[in-house]
Amino acid sequence: MTRSANLGFPRIGLHRELKKAQESFWKGETDAAALHATARELRARHWTLQRDAGIDVIPSNDFAFYDHVLDTSVLVGAIPPRFAEIADADERYFAMARGTTAAPAMEMTKWFDTNYHFIVPELHAGQSFALNAQKPVGHYREAKALGLETRPVIVGPVTFLSLAKAKDNGLDPLDLIDTLVPVYAELLRTLRAEGAEWVQIDEPVLVLDLSDKQRAAFQMAYEVLSKAGPKVLLATYFGALLDNTELAATLPVAGLHIDLVRAPEQLEDVLAVLPEDKTLSVGVVDGRNIWRTNLDRALGFVTRAWDQIGPDRLEIAPSCSLLHSPVDLDAETNLDAELKSWMAFAKQKLGEVAALTQAQREGRAAAKLTFDTSAAAAAAHRASPRIHKDAVKARSAQTIALDRASGFAARRAKQRQKFNLPSYPTTTIGSFPQTREVREARAAFKKGLLDAAGYDAFLEQETEKSIRIQEDIGLDVLVHGEFERNDMVEYFGEQLDGFAFTKNGWVQSYGSRCVKPPVIFGDVSRPSAMTVRWSAFAASLTDKPMKGMLTGPVTILQWSFVRVDQPRAETCRQIALAIRDEVLDLEKAGIGIIQIDEPALREGLPLRQRDWNSYLRWAVDCFRLSASGVADETQIHTHMCYAEFNDIMPAIAEMDADVISIETSRSDMELLEAFRDFKYPNEIGPGVWDIHSPRVPSEADMLALMQKAAEGIPADQLWVNPDCGLKTRGWPEVRASLINLVSAAKALRA
Ligand code: GLN
Ligand code: ZN
Repeated sequence: MTRSANLGFPRIGLHRELKKAQESFWKGETDAAALHATARELRARHWTLQRDAGIDVIPSNDFAFYDHVLDTSVLVGAIPPRFAEIADADERYFAMARGTTAAPAMEMTKWFDTNYHFIVPELHAGQSFALNAQKPVGHYREAKALGLETRPVIVGPVTFLSLAKAKDNGLDPLDLIDTLVPVYAELLRTLRAEGAEWVQIDEPVLVLDLSDKQRAAFQMAYEVLSKAGPKVLLATYFGALLDNTELAATLPVAGLHIDLVRAPEQLEDVLAVLPEDKTLSVGVVDGRNIWRTNLDRALGFVTRAWDQIGPDRLEIAPSCSLLHSPVDLDAETNLDAELKSWMAFAKQKLGEVAALTQAQREGRAAAKLTFDTSAAAAAAHRASPRIHKDAVKARSAQTIALDRASGFAARRAKQRQKFNLPSYPTTTIGSFPQTREVREARAAFKKGLLDAAGYDAFLEQETEKSIRIQEDIGLDVLVHGEFERNDMVEYFGEQLDGFAFTKNGWVQSYGSRCVKPPVIFGDVSRPSAMTVRWSAFAASLTDKPMKGMLTGPVTILQWSFVRVDQPRAETCRQIALAIRDEVLDLEKAGIGIIQIDEPALREGLPLRQRDWNSYLRWAVDCFRLSASGVADETQIHTHMCYAEFNDIMPAIAEMDADVISIETSRSDMELLEAFRDFKYPNEIGPGVWDIHSPRVPSEADMLALMQKAAEGIPADQLWVNPDCGLKTRGWPEVRASLINLVSAAKALRA
């Protein structure tokens, strides 16, 4: 019989219970027993929720305190030597994630193209592995004690090694496959002995461009693992298998999961090569977004698979783990009924999987109500005037020049004349400390305890304070400080049409950190100016140039839940037009320098290299669209955080910002090499102060970094600035560091 399945459930809890339990444990307010009790409670709640939603195949071991890749490092005994001395298992685990005074944390990076961060496995020369099966076995038993049979989930060995970093030059993590696989085999035998009939092994690297070595590692690993005991469901997600289709479909495992939301077209390719006896799990409910599934369309895919392979080898599932979805739409009491009728969170998505399964087993009529509701929502959505705005579409269809009026050399001459800045000009990236007072004032205003006039007066006072501090320190280009902003995307989303906000739509970002992305549901437009009031106020307080601060269209898109009824490029273009209008309004208000931040441009790169160019084309064009309307004299800045700039080099130059600031200090200016090698023509501010650390850099530190920068980039192209915004830092460090930064610039000029 066709089964309904799930690949993973969010761990944080509807009310972020896990976050709260972890943070109070870290502060020493509660003990390990309390932390584990909360975790157990959440697991039990989530397992029963899945069962009650009608899911036949329920995952276990998808729960993790900090991160499931970190759990995998622990599972296989890949504990970096600097943590080996810590005897207590919880203490060691959190030390690996968060660092201690003696041992810096392991590295963290984004999980494929999601906004979830994992802890990068660290492997050392002479690395050996040893099984520590306590967690998967413990959780499997825990579910069993509740009367639930589960399918344990593990990150697969090839994905694990592909994501790992070798801490010794010359070591290729993939060379360790032979020593790692026996540990996995032992784990599978152990789980089989516990009673597990199936395990889910996640190998999302199968949707990436693979090397021959990775392919060989797959063959070798699954030859062994298929004989270890339980049946293996090999899970792939986030994209199409493409040239890896045959490899994935023919590995000697019992089942394969494919993502048919990201890549519906791959169903035919997979069916064409799927061996006779293999189970196919079709991911037809989007695990990455908050929209309700079009059930009739999804049933079409399910039926197509069923036609070929029959009921017994078919599973229906979300496209990927629901880790990337908020927990429960029922908790959204502030969203209006219409918007809500278009959405589904994790719990609702499982209901959709169950309805599809029922329809497949008993016919659509058996799940008629759910299907009819889905169809009605889809029809209402297509017709809704809240989504489709003729004026927005008409404007977006117009051709608007993406080039500035003149080339960079001509603009630079005019800008130099206008601003008359010294060489090595100094500036900051935008935000100043969001102190407790700032956050409290905002909270009070949101709760109605502080009225609009009072909040406004408070913000004016903070802004003025920050300007006086910048003047005293002697910075050349000032900023207003962004005190009025809670978040660089939410602040703009709240002022744009076409955006909505949830109350509880939290998604884990890293560890205990959760984000609540805005929802872009309709055509985007800007009813009125968004930032002019604060930039103009700030500019009126000083004779120094004031830089206006905006978030760029690609970053707004990238950090939101985006509508799926039109291409992302089109949604991005609408946002770009709104930002363009804001840029022009700032210019009209006398703001001569405008920064359009694009920290998320690099992370938006598609998983497959073949798709990079088309993405970069529209992403860069959207940035240019937002910037190109201004006069030559107006100086456009952009900012990007830490990124592999090599991957996007011609694209960054094509953005044609007059000045770009980037995060480089921790890389010891290595990231600048991409700009040097490309002979990047415009101006650039390589960050000289690692703002992620409370350490105050000395004048000598920053001078040395700038001298290094000047070896590769002509001095008259260089600016001096921190790595990123200063909102997470305290005023004393900010003041001390900026004083040193300005003296470093003065020393350079001398
Ligand atoms: N202007 C933003 C700030 O200073 C930029 C933040 C970012 O790049 N993430 O906070
Ligand atoms: Zn940044």
